[in-house]
Amino acid sequence: MAAEVLATAGAKVRVIDHMASPARKFLMAGRGGLNLTHSEPLDQFLDRYGEARSALEPAIRAFPPEALTGWCHGLGIETFVGSSGRVFPKTMKASPLLRAWLRRLDGLGVELALRTEWTGEKWGDAMILALGGASWPRLGSDAHWAGMLRNRGVTVNEFVPANCGVTMAWSPHFRERFAGTPLKRIAVTSGGRTVRGEAMITARGLEGGAIYALTRELRRTAGLTLDLRPDLPLAALQGRLAKPRGKDSHSTWLRKVAGLSPAAISLLREAGLPSTAEAIKAIGLTMTGTDLLVRAISSGGGVALSDIDSGFALKAWPGVYAVGEMLDWEAPTGGYLLQACFSTAVAAARACFESLQTAPDRPHSLSN
Ligand SMILES: Cc1cc2nc3c(=O)[nH]c(=O)nc-3n(C[C@H](O)[C@H](O)[C@H](O)COP(=O)(O)OP(=O)(O)OC[C@H]3O[C@@H](n4cnc5c(N)ncnc54)[C@H](O)[C@@H]3O)c2cc1C
Repeated sequence: MAAEVLATAGAKVRVIDHMASPARKFLMAGRGGLNLTHSEPLDQFLDRYGEARSALEPAIRAFPPEALTGWCHGLGIETFVGSSGRVFPKTMKASPLLRAWLRRLDGLGVELALRTEWTGEKWGDAMILALGGASWPRLGSDAHWAGMLRNRGVTVNEFVPANCGVTMAWSPHFRERFAGTPLKRIAVTSGGRTVRGEAMITARGLEGGAIYALTRELRRTAGLTLDLRPDLPLAALQGRLAKPRGKDSHSTWLRKVAGLSPAAISLLREAGLPSTAEAIKAIGLTMTGTDLLVRAISSGGGVALSDIDSGFALKAWPGVYAVGEMLDWEAPTGGYLLQACFSTAVAAARACFESLQTAPDRPHSLSN
């Protein structure tokens, strides 16, 4: 994205990537439906970045979700807003978008150098680093750049898994029977914060939107609480459970009166809890940890936001910029990750071009 902005402005741009093909993680993001951004009101959208909001806000306001979808449409890729407000390409996949984008970059004269590793030196008059975080390293984002930037005096905070599952010591019976089963319309609480949504039972533990949204809290605690009926107040659930069981089995009765799925009913048992309204609304689960970085959708940590200026230039290394997931910010799934990557790239490219304009004697040659 930085390359496109710079080349459109008239700069000579070279993009390098050490992989044999470009945008491997972007393509992977398209596997489960490429969630480009979100359609919620911008103020709410910006809150998703937590403490990084103030650092990212100007860039996202300057290249907001509408600009990103407009850019997509400009490449001939229609988008739609899903029921949750998330924005996807109609094709759901990343490959048609990537193909059209690479054609555009080629048309703008951007040189693409694959199998070319950046090893810590300054190339070109200015250089925009978009080297990614530390999750899924086999897709190219191996974070080896961290040591190179530290050597240049840049603070790179330790990487941590973000948007990742949590691990649980499920009993063999529960694991075999329910791995792959969703727990729908639940609420998850950890570290004093509650998120409504969905979680998926996996062989290792739990994953899914409601879990990912709490990664920051889940990294700091060993427990989480599930409310299996967040839509029903405690008293209403108590009233329903007071109904006589009749000839129904315990599970059938619970399914009928409390609307619980077989997985939810088994989860109560797995946690050693009785089928009371109190337990249904607050199942305490002990985690054994979070999933590892290699499996996480994104990573926290990276270049400290205090080490970049408002145009995403590294304070410690003039003429070098850093954008995207390599910066230390976190956001939940929902399109917030790609949006911030695109917006920071646009902001850095604009700042970079401006700084090159003020040095007119230098040829405009850039590396990304
Ligand atoms: C399974 C999965 C699903 C996802 N789904 C979504 C989604 O639906 N929506 C969303 O918003 N986000 C999603 N994400 C996250 C999103 O893909 C990333 O946040 C985003 O790709 C980060 O972009 P980036 O340009 O900062 O870094 P990356 O996309 O990681 O790109 C970094 C590039 O730098 C190259 N590189 C690294 N080091 C060097 C070096 N030393 N020399 C040369 N090249 C180097 C890498 O090869 C790579 O191509 C998903 C991620 C995963 C893993």
